[in-house]
Amino acid sequence: MLPWNELLANLAIVAISTSLWTFGNRHVTRYLPRYVSALFGLIMAIGTLCAMSLPFRFHTGVLLDLRYTFLAIAGLFGGPVAAISPFVAAIVWRVTSGGTGSWVAIPLIVMATASGLIAQRYIRGIPDGKAIVVVALAVVFSGTAGFFVMVPLESWHVVMPTVVAPFALLLFVSAVVSSLALSLELKRQEATNLNRIYRAIIEALPDCLNAKDLEGRFIAANPATADLMGATRSADLIGKTDFDFYQPEAAAIFRADEAKVLSEGHPATIEQRFTRSDGTDAWLSTLKAPFTDDDGAVIGLITHNREITDRKRLENELSRTQQHLNNALDSMADGLAMFDAEGRQVFSNSRYAEMFPLTADIRVAGTSLRTILRTAIERGEDMPFAGKIDDVIDQAADVFLLSGDNQIRLADGRWIEARTRAMEDGGSLVVFSDITLAKRAEAELRTLNERLEIMAHTDGLTGLLNRRSFDVHLASHVSRMAVGTPGPGLLMIDVDKFKAFNDTYGHPAGDACLKTVSDCIAASMKDYPDSVVARYGGEEIAVIIPGCGADQAASVANFLCAQVRRLEIVHKGSEKGIVTVSIGTAAAGCGGACETKILLRSADEALYAAKAAGRDCVRSVDPDAFLPSISSDGKRSA
Ligand code: GH3
Ligand code: MG
Ligand code: MG
Repeated sequence: MLPWNELLANLAIVAISTSLWTFGNRHVTRYLPRYVSALFGLIMAIGTLCAMSLPFRFHTGVLLDLRYTFLAIAGLFGGPVAAISPFVAAIVWRVTSGGTGSWVAIPLIVMATASGLIAQRYIRGIPDGKAIVVVALAVVFSGTAGFFVMVPLESWHVVMPTVVAPFALLLFVSAVVSSLALSLELKRQEATNLNRIYRAIIEALPDCLNAKDLEGRFIAANPATADLMGATRSADLIGKTDFDFYQPEAAAIFRADEAKVLSEGHPATIEQRFTRSDGTDAWLSTLKAPFTDDDGAVIGLITHNREITDRKRLENELSRTQQHLNNALDSMADGLAMFDAEGRQVFSNSRYAEMFPLTADIRVAGTSLRTILRTAIERGEDMPFAGKIDDVIDQAADVFLLSGDNQIRLADGRWIEARTRAMEDGGSLVVFSDITLAKRAEAELRTLNERLEIMAHTDGLTGLLNRRSFDVHLASHVSRMAVGTPGPGLLMIDVDKFKAFNDTYGHPAGDACLKTVSDCIAASMKDYPDSVVARYGGEEIAVIIPGCGADQAASVANFLCAQVRRLEIVHKGSEKGIVTVSIGTAAAGCGGACETKILLRSADEALYAAKAAGRDCVRSVDPDAFLPSISSDGKRSA
């Protein structure tokens, strides 16, 4: 009655099928996964059929075998594609073999298959111990559930220990053992794949990767390492040390580096310089990491090298260029500061700090322009501002950071020009130039120009306006004449017997006399602020009185004669005994048609008349007498 013989034969079939797959599947891994699953299903189907063909005949038409194990593990390890073959095989076999229990057997076949598929769906990967036990229990349940239906209760005490229990045990053992074997195979396969990937990466790695033992002998190396060492193959490195490939000094340094990492026991990255076999210098960036055995004892060193010769060369070039740039910037006569888009200083040269000695300490990278401006005001470096300090700072910062040129007056009297240029990244570059000397020269030039301007219009001896200026003034007044309003009055003043004065007292005394007379006339005209007093030439002085009628011109002239007389400058060469002047006047009147030359000619005629009348007197001539008149034949005449 005991089912051991048949069921143990079943167990052997399970073992053989599982072994067949674990040994054979490594040869089919290159095929598509669904083909591999189908093949796995096929083997499980054959196993199912073999198990079903060697059943323990429990009762007429009731056969016990380990088909449930095949059905469940096919789904668990191969998914639906693998589950389909054993499932169909079991159903077909069971249906065709007939017997009383087929109506019970078919749902149990479905149940076992489903348990494997459900577990596979939820695990999605290699099943762990827990999943295997759960599936094994499902297999046990699928295999033994039929007893509950078919065995009457009074027979259980006999059937349970003799059939159900051994059968359940074998179901469980077969499911667990085969699942474990398949799991281990999957794990091995996974490890092999990973190993292959890592090996491919290491082989293809352009960086050097190698392992050495405690004595510095290579125990593994990739082709890049062989390449670096000048060996043909990486196998040629095994058992050798750096001393076999490098100069003894370089190899000794490498060995010392390794000894240090080994003694410290933790990874280190170092930069190593060495000379290649062709004599050229090169640099390596090297990571050295100790590795240990299972007991944690350091047994060697893994080295990862990357050649950084090009990077080193670029770094050196960059540092040299940087140095040149810094030298150039620091020897600039101008200060230079760079600000980022937020207005924070990011760079400056030393001249910049020298230009602002009271705030040099804060004019460093990271300080905002607003802070710099505020500090400069607070420390009295900038000129004091009117208004609220925050407003002034905001305004100044905006101005500074926008492209343009600004001139700043510092409290110590220096002038600084700040030229701002916007940069592409939103920042600004500001060049500060000390323009104090230029400003001073500009101011001196302005003063000089003003003096030249005055000199160009002034007579050197008398300080009165000169002839050129007189001409401009007279032309201007005449051009502005309008009908109905009086035009300018012109007074032509001549010092009497002045040649004799020079002859008597000498030319310098004549100059002094001329200056005194000029001052007197200029002072006497101060009540006529719009009047123009000019040296007309020689000892002649001309006066223009705007809006002046003939009578007023004569009156002013008489006043001037009296004023000069009052000077009482002794003049022995004159009948009067003192210096006197004769004045001819001409007033343009209200006709609005007088011309400059007519006015001049009239005044000149009048002066001539005054001289003729005995000097020290005033005579007037009406310019109208010289105006062109229309003759009876229609021709103009003067
Ligand atoms: P009159 O009363 O008719 O005007 O006699 P006058 O001697 O003043 O006239 P004349 O034109 O013969 O002489 C003018 C003199 O004025 C001649 C010149 O030596 C003198 N003179 C002209 N300009 C200057 C000057 O700048 N300085 C001096 N010292 N003398 C001057
Ligand atoms: Mg004269
Ligand atoms: Mg004269």
